[in-house]
Amino acid sequence: MRPIPILTALALVSAPVFAQQATDAVPPEMTTDLSAPVADPGLRASQTAKAEGRSVEASNWMISAAHPLAVQAGADVLRAGGTAADAMVAAQAMLGLVEPQSSGLGGGGFLVYYDADLGEVFTLDGRETAPMDATPTLFQTEGEPMGFFEAVVGGLSVGVPGTPALMAGTHQRWGTIPWPDLLAPAINQAEAGFEVSARLAAMVGFDQDRLVLHPETSAYFLPEGAPLAAGDLLKNPKYAETLRLLADGGPQAFYEGPMAGLIMSAVLNAVQPGLLSEWDMRNYTIRERDAVCSAFQSYEVCGMGPPSSGAVAVGQILGLADAYYDGAMPDVSAETEVLTVWGNAGRLAFADRGRYLADSDFVPVPVTGLLDPAYLADRATEDMGTGALEDVTPGTPEFDHALLWADHVGRALPSTTHLSIVDQYGDALSLTSSIENAFGSRVMVGGFLLNNQLTDFSFRSHRDGVPIANRVEPGKRPRSSMSPTIVLEDGKPVLVIGSPGGSRIIGYVAETIWRVLGEGQDIQAAIAAPHAVNRFGTYDIEAGPGSEDRAAELEARGFKVSVRDLNSGLHGIVIGPDGLRGGADPRREGLAYGE
Ligand code: GLU
Repeated sequence: MRPIPILTALALVSAPVFAQQATDAVPPEMTTDLSAPVADPGLRASQTAKAEGRSVEASNWMISAAHPLAVQAGADVLRAGGTAADAMVAAQAMLGLVEPQSSGLGGGGFLVYYDADLGEVFTLDGRETAPMDATPTLFQTEGEPMGFFEAVVGGLSVGVPGTPALMAGTHQRWGTIPWPDLLAPAINQAEAGFEVSARLAAMVGFDQDRLVLHPETSAYFLPEGAPLAAGDLLKNPKYAETLRLLADGGPQAFYEGPMAGLIMSAVLNAVQPGLLSEWDMRNYTIRERDAVCSAFQSYEVCGMGPPSSGAVAVGQILGLADAYYDGAMPDVSAETEVLTVWGNAGRLAFADRGRYLADSDFVPVPVTGLLDPAYLADRATEDMGTGALEDVTPGTPEFDHALLWADHVGRALPSTTHLSIVDQYGDALSLTSSIENAFGSRVMVGGFLLNNQLTDFSFRSHRDGVPIANRVEPGKRPRSSMSPTIVLEDGKPVLVIGSPGGSRIIGYVAETIWRVLGEGQDIQAAIAAPHAVNRFGTYDIEAGPGSEDRAAELEARGFKVSVRDLNSGLHGIVIGPDGLRGGADPRREGLAYGE
């Protein structure tokens, strides 16, 4: 049993640490300053390791997350004897402050937890839900789908947030440190202020035309009409107030009463009013779902099932490649032939994803059939290695009784966040958390942004007269690509991994698992390695040395190729026989840190 440490809120308050500057700013034409130091010596060592391409080592516990202040908040909790669940609460509360464009109280997420006491993996679905008044034509005007940003900005795209309930539910189940103590560091930081990172500043600058549309959003990100600049000290007293409310009243204080009222009125008064009601807010629940685990070599890759397509698609890509190579995995980026197999595996998986994946509370999803090794071996034909497969269609897995079709490939914009945590008790936590688009719906209330997660639904309700599986329906959860993953070997966790990146998340996560476990690469090297992602459209090859040549070779093999920046935000931890090793994505500003 874990001890229950007695901690005061004060003991958890970290010394101010200034943000490391981003290595990645999207839109891609923006460059960022990499030079600003972090103040804490431990974190500085992590930053140096990352800059030098080395992973970070530790023996007891570790956290890898998207911002140094969030890493610091989680690390303080882990050092004080907290569990991975406790550390997640502290880190997520901090991310909502320092990386507000990506995740926060107004969003949702999926959490995978390995409970070392029980030796079992659990998954919690904290996805946003559609209001009960939503209908399949929510994102249509005169029967035609709206433009994407037309739908995103304003109240219409806002689903009932899941993150506060997910934080509280995880804490209730696995936490040991008093809930208010875990929110204290973010409260203090919000009041003291934090340094705006180059990445946040670049994104505010890019998005100002949309941020200006809502008064609270505009006042916060464009004070006195000018976008925040890197290095500005930014205070968020409203966020501190909201967290205090949560600290005192628990999640109920968010889903009911004045806070719920504020959220609803922001949604109803936004540009393009939405449909949230008191009932929707009050009745939100996180759902515990069975972990979806698939076989990859000697490993079990466990993650989030529907409404996320993550675990099924990651499992399919790895399973198809594994079946093709019969277990002897070559280097995923070395050869054009391997990239041909990889690209076709992605196309086959995304064909099935488009056909079958949606919220399984509304649509039957043949998860078992889709991951059946015999089904995947059947689809992993020999011509996968010769060129782009000509005829890629969804398969017919066993238990296929879905008549409906999904569609809609998510549009990746630089948002969402992933954190991986291992505590000293052997528990592991993998959380991908999101407000969907960068700055979500752009509607801000109580110091945080509301999500636009409902635009992850299909905008069309039917295709060829047949209802689309991922269409909007009241109370339904939009299909996701988020792939928080814990990989097991002999029932014990060996890798905790995940990433933001819209539907490219699936490719990023599958690649990293292949590299680390299939090829034995170091976690930091695997995360930093160039990406190649095929979602059944263009084959996206990450711009960098050799990418144009590689693209030409793949084009000659029949793929449509796009060489571009690929803004993953992979954060991972390897749990090996001689300790923990962490990596953080050099494309973003996060760190791995452990002791
Ligand atoms: N909304 C996306 C999903 O749930 C995540 C967005 C992103 O990663 O940028 O799949």
